[in-house]
Amino acid sequence: MGPVRKDLFVDVVIVGGGTAGCLAAVTIKERAPTAKVMIVEKAEIERSGCLAAGMNAINAYLNPGETPESFAKYVRYDAMGLIREDLVLSAAQRLNKVVKKVEEMGLPIQKKTDGTYIPRGRWNIKINGENLKPLLAQAVKDHDVQVINRVVATNYLINREGRAAGVMGFGVRDECFYVIKAKAVICATGGAAGIYHPHNPVDGHHKTWYSPFNTGAGYAMGIRASAEMTTFEMRFIALRTKDIICPTGTLALGFKAPQVNSYSVRYMTRDFSHLGGEGAPTCLRLYGYLKETKEGRGPCYMDTRHLSPERVRELKESYLDMYPGIVLYWAANRINPGQEQVEISGTEPYIMGGHCQAGYWIDRKRETTVKGLYACGDVAGGYPFKFVSGCWAEGTIAGESAVEYIEEALGGFNSSLPREENGEAQISKEKERVFRPQVRYRQEKSGIRPWEMEERIQKIMDEYAGGIGSFYEINEHRLVRAGDELRRLQEQVRYLVAGDSHELMQAHEVIDRLIVAEVLVEHLRYRKETRWPGFQSRTDYPERDDLHWLKFVNSKLKANGEIEMIERPYKQEIPGERYIPR
Ligand SMILES: Cc1cc2nc3c(=O)[nH]c(=O)nc-3n(C[C@H](O)[C@H](O)[C@H](O)COP(=O)(O)OP(=O)(O)OC[C@H]3O[C@@H](n4cnc5c(N)ncnc54)[C@H](O)[C@@H]3O)c2cc1C
Repeated sequence: MGPVRKDLFVDVVIVGGGTAGCLAAVTIKERAPTAKVMIVEKAEIERSGCLAAGMNAINAYLNPGETPESFAKYVRYDAMGLIREDLVLSAAQRLNKVVKKVEEMGLPIQKKTDGTYIPRGRWNIKINGENLKPLLAQAVKDHDVQVINRVVATNYLINREGRAAGVMGFGVRDECFYVIKAKAVICATGGAAGIYHPHNPVDGHHKTWYSPFNTGAGYAMGIRASAEMTTFEMRFIALRTKDIICPTGTLALGFKAPQVNSYSVRYMTRDFSHLGGEGAPTCLRLYGYLKETKEGRGPCYMDTRHLSPERVRELKESYLDMYPGIVLYWAANRINPGQEQVEISGTEPYIMGGHCQAGYWIDRKRETTVKGLYACGDVAGGYPFKFVSGCWAEGTIAGESAVEYIEEALGGFNSSLPREENGEAQISKEKERVFRPQVRYRQEKSGIRPWEMEERIQKIMDEYAGGIGSFYEINEHRLVRAGDELRRLQEQVRYLVAGDSHELMQAHEVIDRLIVAEVLVEHLRYRKETRWPGFQSRTDYPERDDLHWLKFVNSKLKANGEIEMIERPYKQEIPGERYIPR
């Protein structure tokens, strides 16, 4: 007897109960109170995803004097001239409203004596956000949204007209196979960590900057459903405190600590203010550190030695709201950042649409190229510099669009679900695929363990697709090797084994990472220029080439398993001069 199957029927199913997913759920219930809304979450929404440990700042906010247009212009500058301006503008119009909404849910935002928010930089405000995720989870519960925790989504259900009609997955605790049929689907599973080798070894391998449990499931599900994906080649590599991987933005913006090399020389000296930049674009800050290190002037640091004891105390308080690890590390090792500089390093590369813009190709309503499937947050592409508030804004847009779609295209919330004729074939195929590693383990007792395949993917990506060992640099020959090796590995997937349901989850995590890695390599190969130095540095095409490459590189998995590359034009929506840093 195989795993028990559970069939559930809802109006909207949201995959991933993180930052964006929670706001999408609340929005739907506000717009359509009778709607049956379900969140499928692989962890526990109380403390899942990027917000699990809390936050100390909201990084996308229109402080007094700023407008959605000035924000979008800045984002364009930070992303070296290439963004989906329609997506950035439509979210920017909601940023302040959505922050207010979360404040009303209970988020403490730091205020001046006149009651206005305390800015932490041009686009940031300070919060006491240790409890941010439980607050969102509570709002979801208060709005009568059904949440199923510990259920790993594995694939969409697509109806015969090609519309998204639900999602399938399995329970890690109850070991059931879930079939959740819905009128509309929203994907909010975040980005992908673990595609490259984590810098911290063995027990510390989950000590990555990005949530290690966001393993690219939403991308993989979309790729398998032939949804169009965009800009995977703009990887995000965070510049962080070494080993502890603590955000350096807190030091740079909140405490005015400059980047310095081992000779205490400030190397980020170029003035970008005439381009509308507050500092160098994010990728160039990493690039500056890489250049110093490569040319023998590393290690590099954030120089905190100007901080008074009072400011050091404030710094520690600020980190306790978000990244308590570094405060414990300093305490355990008797480090005083007022006397000692803080060493910095690049992290392993991540694929994400929040800081960068890898993800589903969506329209202004956040609908993907699969009808009835919406995407928001880090899994959605084309809109970098999203941060927590941009994810909220995008969640509200996706939620509203799903309601509109059900009302206008599917006869409203009281209509019954469309009958599926080919659904059963798809469902039994997926059930067999999902549990195959467990079945193989029972039958054969031997095979490839998920961690072994994970190691192999990461080694290939590190060595051939721009890992830290090559200063994140790439070239055609290495990328071709990466593609060949990954395809070889794809043939080994059938030998994966899983001894229990937890290991089954890990098996699907590597299966998802593998397909994301394959698509990523094709994107890296296709863009024959260097647009984002540090994030995407091609040694064979070291210059930016606006004439040929000021456009989006997209991809789509074809029925024969080939990855088709597609070009989409850049459209300027904000008038005025476009500044792209050189
Ligand atoms: C360390 C760190 C610090 C940050 N600091 C700041 C900051 O100070 N200020 C700021 O504004 N922004 C910050 N950000 C950015 C911001 O937190 C993210 O952009 C945002 O939280 C992403 O939201 P999301 O909903 O897309 O993803 P998440 O919030 O990560 O949610 C994704 C959810 O999907 C679930 N999921 C994944 N796969 C599956 C599956 N197969 N089935 C079911 N569920 C699944 C996950 O468990 C998770 O709950 C930071 C991000 C990180 C990683």
